[in-house]
Order: sequence, then structure tokens, then C-alpha cells
Amino acid sequence: MTDLDLRTAVWLTAVLVGMMSLVLFLLRNSYPPYVRGITHWASALAIFFVACVLFSKRGVWADFITIFIANLVMMFGMTLLYFGSRRHFDLSVAPRNWIIFGTVCLAVITLVPTVSASYQLRSTVLTTYAATAMLLHARVIYKHGDPIFAYRFTAFVIATEAVVTTLRLISFFYDRPDIGLFENSLGQTVYVSSFLYGGTLAGLGFTLMASTRVRKELEHLASHDSLTGCLSRRAWLEICEQEMDRSVRSGRPMTLLIMDIDHFKKVNDNYGHQVGDRVIVSVVKHATTALRRADSLGRYGGEEFVALLPETGAEQALVVAERIRTAVEKSADDPRCTVSIGIATNNVKLSVDGLLTLADEAMYRAKHNGRNRVETA
Ligand code: GH3
Ligand code: MG
Ligand code: MG
Repeated sequence: MTDLDLRTAVWLTAVLVGMMSLVLFLLRNSYPPYVRGITHWASALAIFFVACVLFSKRGVWADFITIFIANLVMMFGMTLLYFGSRRHFDLSVAPRNWIIFGTVCLAVITLVPTVSASYQLRSTVLTTYAATAMLLHARVIYKHGDPIFAYRFTAFVIATEAVVTTLRLISFFYDRPDIGLFENSLGQTVYVSSFLYGGTLAGLGFTLMASTRVRKELEHLASHDSLTGCLSRRAWLEICEQEMDRSVRSGRPMTLLIMDIDHFKKVNDNYGHQVGDRVIVSVVKHATTALRRADSLGRYGGEEFVALLPETGAEQALVVAERIRTAVEKSADDPRCTVSIGIATNNVKLSVDGLLTLADEAMYRAKHNGRNRVETA
């Protein structure tokens, strides 16, 4: 049928998944612990290596080892791989259902006599289990990963493998009943060699997913304030510039808001710097709750915060600012504090800097007029 020797293909699959497993184990040591799932993936690929070695010895070693044990190992690896991705996305892992599912499958396999004619039934059971695990696996990556290459690629590879496996399952019913694993048929060639490509590409996909996670974390660290979790000054200004362009083009207003905690030096002096930090976090919590989804909050410096309110006029912004001021004033968090807020809307053509200066002046007016107030530029 084809020139490909399937026993060699299985052996080659063992070598490639073994190497991908090694790469992932090495990545585990160099990547931070928040990149979850790597150990599961690496272990699963190491398990595939063992399964492939056993499969490659079909007809050479005892059937019990190359059929029963090999299938058991394969099913375990397939499940562990799926668990790795669930862990990667911080999803719960429930082995119980899989143990029941696997036990039922194994019971069926074991009850069938290990002669070559039983290959169809054994494969039907094994492929049902594998296709289920792979389809759920691809779904998890597609659903929980961002729509970027690393996730889409890995989900595609696993989904393709699931489809090939399912098609093989369907084709069993049209094939000769005595077909064996290394039979030189088109179906067996596509099925066996798909594990060669699928195993290697999926391994590559997991390394991409792991590095994407690291990149996303670094991007987050660069654009967010570590104490409060709100945007850093630089990231906030970038968003502001973009929104300003949009506002000028559309002719719709946008509003900036500057907020400073009142008499904050006293908080530090009376309670210490650590309590001061806690007060800052509490103010940000209230401000975030009072702001709307489209609004962006940034730490402008020290205990001074800025908020961008897109497509918002002065009147509407005043309502939002009052909501923040009241939330902080009425907060049950101890020690109590208040904030002064300045507002500026771009109804004249101004730069972000110009608008910020106006908001700052309004905020100082609020301080001057007795604090715990909102003033508009
Ligand atoms: P005002 O009402 O006029 O704003 O008085 P104020 O005492 O709040 O004065 P100001 O806004 O100038 O206070 C800034 C103080 O905030 C000075 C600085 O020690 C403190 N600060 C700045 N950043 C932090 C921080 O991250 N943690 C803590 N605990 N304190 C900070
Ligand atoms: Mg202050
Ligand atoms: Mg200040």
C-alpha cells in the first residue's frame, strides 16, 4: 500500500515524543511556577514514549505487554496530557470520572481474547476513549486560550488527531475483520503516522503555550502597578493617547479624572507605611468598583490616581467622581480616609498633557476648598 514501515513509524514517534518530553522537563526548571501544566505535559509525553516502545514490540514481546499494558499506558498518558492543559488554565481536575471511564474500557479490552482478530474491538474501545479525551482537550485550549497562534495551533493539532482517530474508528466497520496494528493499509498508515506528527506538533504547541504564559505575565508586570494592580502611569498614558485620537476623530467627549488621598502623610505618620499601603489599595478597590467597565484607572504617582472615562461628558463624569468620593468616605475600611478629585473634559482641542493640567488644577482647587470634594475644570 505504502512504503512506510509502520513499526518504524511507531518507534520514531517514541523518539520524538521522548525528546519533546525532555524539552518540557527542562523548561519546567527554567520557567516560573505560575506557568502551570508543564510537568503534566512532560510526564504525559514520557508515558507516550513508553507506550510507543511497547506498541513497536507487538508480535515480538508477549501480547499482554504490547496490547493490554501498552493500551493502559496510552490511555493514562492521554488523560494526563488533558489534565496538564486544565491545570495550565487553572481549571479543576477531576480524575474520578476518567478512572471509571478507563476502567470500563479496560474491562472490555481484557474480556476480549488476545488474538489478532480482536484488534477491531480493542481499537474501537481505545479510540473511543482517546478521541473523547482529545476532543475535550482541544475544546479546553480553544475555549480558555486567547485567540492567538500558540493556543489555536495546539487546539488544531489535537482536534485533528481526534478527527483522524474518530475516522479510523468509523473505517473499522468497513475494513477486513482481521486487520492488525502494522497492517499495510491506507487507514492504518494514516492512523499510525498521525501520531508521529500529532505527538511532535502537540509537544511543540505546549512549549509555545508555556512561553506565551511567561510573555503575558511579563507584559502584565510592565503595564500594571504591583501594589494596587491598576495600570502603570506609562500604560495608562498610552491608552489615553489612543482614546484622545478617537475622541478627536469622532467628536465625542472624553473625561480625565485626577484623585489624591487627603492628608495621606498623616496616615503614614500615625500608622506606618504598611498601613498607608493598605489604605492606598482600599481606595483603588472602591474607585474600581465605582468606575464603569470601559473606564481605565492608573497610578499616576504615590497616592495620586488618574481615570480615563471614554465617551463621557463633564456631567456624567461628575456623577462617577461623586460615586468614588462617597464610596471612599463611607468605606468601613480602617483607618478612614477621603479623596479630592479634579475633572477635565476635552470639549476644546487639547493634548492629553493639557487635559491633565486642567484636571490637576481642578484637583488642587478641591484641596483648597476643603478636601473630600469634586471640582470640575
Ligand atoms: P493632601 O491632602 O494635600 O494631599 O496631603 P497629603 O499629606 O496627602 O500630601 P501628598 O499628597 O503630597 O502626600 C503624599 C504622601 O504619600 C507622601 C508619601 O510619603 C506618601 N506616599 C506616596 N506613595 C506611597 C506609597 O506607595 N505608600 C505609602 N505608604 N505612602 C506613599
Ligand atoms: Mg495627598
Ligand atoms: Mg499626592
